[in-house]
Amino acid sequence: MKQYFLETFGCQMNVVDSERIAALLEQIGYQPTDDAEQADLILLNTCSVRDKAERKVIGHLGRYKPLKQQRPELILGVGGCVAQQEGEDFLSRVPHLDLVFGTHNIHRLPEMLEKVERERERVHAVEFLDRETRVRLFPKRSDSDSVTRFVTVMQGCDNFCSYCIVPYVRGREVSRPSGEIIEEIRQLAENGVREVTLIGQNVNSYGLGVEGELSFAELLRRVNAVDGIERIRFTTSHPKDLSDELIDCFGELDKLCHHLQLPLQSGSDRILEKMNRGYTAGDYLARVERLKRVCPDIRLTTDLIVGFPGETEEDFAATLAVVEQVRYADAYTFLYSPRPKTAAAKLPDDTPAQVKQERFDRLLDIQNAISEQTWQSDVGGIFPVLVEGRSRQGQGQLFGRTTWNRIVNFAGPDELVGRIVPVRVTSSFRNSQLGELVDRNLLRGAG
Ligand code: SF4
Repeated sequence: MKQYFLETFGCQMNVVDSERIAALLEQIGYQPTDDAEQADLILLNTCSVRDKAERKVIGHLGRYKPLKQQRPELILGVGGCVAQQEGEDFLSRVPHLDLVFGTHNIHRLPEMLEKVERERERVHAVEFLDRETRVRLFPKRSDSDSVTRFVTVMQGCDNFCSYCIVPYVRGREVSRPSGEIIEEIRQLAENGVREVTLIGQNVNSYGLGVEGELSFAELLRRVNAVDGIERIRFTTSHPKDLSDELIDCFGELDKLCHHLQLPLQSGSDRILEKMNRGYTAGDYLARVERLKRVCPDIRLTTDLIVGFPGETEEDFAATLAVVEQVRYADAYTFLYSPRPKTAAAKLPDDTPAQVKQERFDRLLDIQNAISEQTWQSDVGGIFPVLVEGRSRQGQGQLFGRTTWNRIVNFAGPDELVGRIVPVRVTSSFRNSQLGELVDRNLLRGAG
């Protein structure tokens, strides 16, 4: 049987796309391998949102060159956002590459592979599809061997934030029909899934512009009513589309987890305007204030960009002020880098790299201290944890997550997988926590 090796870069959308790629490859007789050297097909599913991710792809392709030289029949392909961005040029830039497929062309993979295999031709497909075809081809998967699943509810983005490449490589927004989403979630629940994360580039603009479609808040209410589903999460949210109706869901829906990823990007109104974000720091803080009022224990995480073109010390201080006021549980911090085609790439940028780096380090120090205090404050507390499986830590440990999406490792029997159990957090580390089961009856049967 032929074997494939698939590497995934970037965000959750890419994780879902990689699942789709894997399912297609398995339908045409490939099986997965963890060893690139054994593979007949190596695919990289790429992300171009961050400059670093793109450079990583080029580096990885270089690493596979000797394999291709030793075994010319090996097929090497690149999909995802970098492939979409580079298109056919990628084949000229990387002579040992056989296949380039864009974000709207995953369904064509079997046909493209056949062409490469039979005709030994190098092929590419990066055309955008029309709205109707995209709606028809939404990733669907109702089987599952895990307790948690991502469910794609929308794709693409119409916002054109000035620094972001997503609208150019993923296309415009399309929402998946709500009836189809609910049916998939029902089937997932029947197959043992207990937690769903609704994903899309900008989930809270779900349904906008589609006549008769539910709003995102209404969709959440329908998901909350699905028997067997015990937890709901969603990502990513744009602050400007975070309606009162949606915020109020955090106070109303018993299954909605008390965590929200709400990208701030900058705390300076001047920079937010240059970023085309559509909100001010004051608007953002008003959203946060309402969230904390309807759901007092909610924890927020965020994305922050340091060193956007023209950022002054005063702009940066405004970002620090919001960070200190909101007290994010965690933040994904990035040093700005221009992305091709975007409006920000044309802006003059006169802040020295060293100044940007120094700001970045200051921000990180402040955020790390807040994160540390937040997660340490859990120690001694007892929290419901949805058990997802055996922990990589070994030693008979299970792992699960709290409502705040924090991984907790603790000792317990396999029978607890898929259940929500009370766990006392005993220590907290940078990326996870250690705990112990509180209800000792649940330990019966533990080897
Ligand atoms: S909302 Fe802005 S940052 Fe997010 S995907 Fe759309 S354009 Fe990019």
